[in-house]
Amino acid sequence: MHEKIHSEDITGLRPAKNRLNPFLPYHYLHEQEPALQGGTDEVNTLFLTSKECIFKCLMCDLWKNTLDGAMPEGAVLAQIDFALQRLPKAEVIKLYNNGNFFDTKAVFPTDYPAIAQRIANYARVIVENHPKLCGDLCLRFRDLINGKLEVAMGLETIHPRVLPLLNKQMTTEDFKRAAVFLNKHEIDTRAFILLNPPYLTDPDESINWTLKSVEFAFACGVKRCTIIPVRRGNGVMEVLWKSGDYVPPSLDMLEEVFERALAFHRGQVMVDTWDIGFLSDCPDCFEKRKQRLEAMNLDQTISPPVPCYGKH
Ligand code: SF4
Ligand SMILES: [Zn+2]
Repeated sequence: MHEKIHSEDITGLRPAKNRLNPFLPYHYLHEQEPALQGGTDEVNTLFLTSKECIFKCLMCDLWKNTLDGAMPEGAVLAQIDFALQRLPKAEVIKLYNNGNFFDTKAVFPTDYPAIAQRIANYARVIVENHPKLCGDLCLRFRDLINGKLEVAMGLETIHPRVLPLLNKQMTTEDFKRAAVFLNKHEIDTRAFILLNPPYLTDPDESINWTLKSVEFAFACGVKRCTIIPVRRGNGVMEVLWKSGDYVPPSLDMLEEVFERALAFHRGQVMVDTWDIGFLSDCPDCFEKRKQRLEAMNLDQTISPPVPCYGKH
């Protein structure tokens, strides 16, 4: 039996945060995603500098690009203006804040109308939020925007012993309740699901739990799942790696889980290809395999595997 690692111990092991300006987004980019109705969406993704998330999940490294205190007045609006002046036209906008859009100290509800006005031309607006913070504020924001609202939530894993150990402070029932609530109110949902969270160290078992978690998300009415290979780098993950309680996934595992999840044909499945160099020890095929995953993200079909002639 593993002992739960508490928030104070998780934060105590952290390396330093990045220094950020609260009036500038820490990143923004233009990307493509598969559209829910078929075809491809042009997406403007804003990574807003925001207040740190109130949850302290074991595997999370998003806090690195967050601020300690509450947001200053007007900062979120200034960030959105800054990014939108520099991004091309798109149908979809993601307002990601490395935490919870509906945390009232991160994005002030009094700013919702001005945000809605700035993003009035977008057909779809995607924000991220913890399932336990999905309530009336989602509906208030939904009513203000012209586009369809989509909320991205971390399900992480449905493994009954591992989920409580992740310090997500959420049960699978909490996730289901949030997804059902949002769907009922015509808000789309997407789920983030982990490959190789801490304590799932056997490759086959880990793949199976990722797939079970994808199935659970779809059964809750989620429209799309993004599979995220868990990485080190947040302090506590280094400790878990040294003790053998976390094992990095391999590129083979990510490919297998992606192909099998796509074959469900229950909804969209994507894999997070950002910074996945740590999954591979073969420089010869890595780029091609990454490009294949990116193409599969867009096409939602399984393409022929890229052969590896190196040793793994
Ligand atoms: S809820 Fe999300 S942002 Fe917050 S600590 Fe957990 S993984 Fe990180
Ligand atoms: Zn290779």
